[in-house]
Amino acid sequence: MTGTTLDDYTDRYARRVRGMTASEIRALFAVASRPEVVSLAGGAPYIAALPLDAVGEMLGRLGSEQGTSTLQYGIGQGTLELRERICEVMALSGIDVNCGASPEDVVVTVGGQQALDLVARLFLDPGDVVLAEGPTYVGALGVFQAAQAQVVHVAMDSDGLVPEALEAAIAEVARSGRRAKFLYTIPTFQNPTGVTLTDERRERVLDICERAGLLVVEDDPYGQLGFGSEAPAPLRARRRDGVFYLSTFSKTFAPGLRVGWILAPHAVRDKLVIASEAQILCPSNYAQAAVSTYLSTMPWREQLKTYRQVYAERRDALLSALTDLMPAGTSWTEPQGGLFVWATLPEGLDAKAMMPRAIAARVAYVPGTGFYADGSGAGNMRLNFSFPPPERIREGVRRLASVMEQEMAM
Ligand code: PMP
Repeated sequence: MTGTTLDDYTDRYARRVRGMTASEIRALFAVASRPEVVSLAGGAPYIAALPLDAVGEMLGRLGSEQGTSTLQYGIGQGTLELRERICEVMALSGIDVNCGASPEDVVVTVGGQQALDLVARLFLDPGDVVLAEGPTYVGALGVFQAAQAQVVHVAMDSDGLVPEALEAAIAEVARSGRRAKFLYTIPTFQNPTGVTLTDERRERVLDICERAGLLVVEDDPYGQLGFGSEAPAPLRARRRDGVFYLSTFSKTFAPGLRVGWILAPHAVRDKLVIASEAQILCPSNYAQAAVSTYLSTMPWREQLKTYRQVYAERRDALLSALTDLMPAGTSWTEPQGGLFVWATLPEGLDAKAMMPRAIAARVAYVPGTGFYADGSGAGNMRLNFSFPPPERIREGVRRLASVMEQEMAM
């Protein structure tokens, strides 16, 4: 051994690497995946709800019967066949030809995560400001941090992003002489809160951004996973200019395939493709064929219903366990779709500090601090209900409640 450690490279790192730290969520996964731990920490879809035999057979055929194309390089923008299918999927949410959606303006990405990274590459210079809900998706924070941008959080309540807080944040950034480039928002069944921006607020948020000359990056992995009445139409269905729509098949089909997309304003499409080619040359032809064949030959709308039913049942299990078992002073959101509940702990409890005790009690969650760029969120936690079955969810909440009671008695 030469005794070389990563620290020997510290002086050589690019500036953008210096603030890179492992996300709390990723660090938790190792512990949380131990079988004795009830993990409410993840964000994984319940893949066992897929018809795995039929999907497996389809995947096999893609290699044996279409291998000369599926195993070959592809084009940077993604296959036309998949981009057409993506337009069908978006049409279900109201993003259709009437609002200018076309396969021409779709760029296929390696999951929603690459979509975020591409938008950041195109628009963020070091020091630029991104406005984002507080709290927001941890993976987006990682992308913005790597771009050396500064995230300014905008307050939310149970109706989503607060328009007055958005106006105030825009004014504040302008006063400090900096430039906000875009609003990053997850308006529907948000990660981590599960909250949905109301119809009325959607219009106001769009008006505010338009007036301020702010682009909107709408991230919508969960919009088709609603449990009851239709979710309000996406922002992109309401405005075509200045709105980037990002989504993924990770939650509606399978994250292992890593297929997502951006629907971009036409003028920007080429730049996105060039940036993507520089990163990855092209998305996987095999994974794209898997998704487009799934969409053209298998009952994917039925599968969406199955996911919704499974998650609705698990959401109910989580909400009733919280009602029955949580100590007084705890509150939580009541999501109408998606995968997550956001809990607020009784005064004085710190979700991050409590984590080792929770793990010892064999339950895991994600402390709220992971979802803020500024260290807020210690009094919150994100609870996932898509992966553990209902009885495990209840057992997890029982363990969590008992850890919290012990903390409160300390
Ligand atoms: N955006 C949000 C809001 C997410 O929750 C996730 C995944 N958890 C992603 C993007 C990334 O999705 P993908 O797995 O498709 O990269």
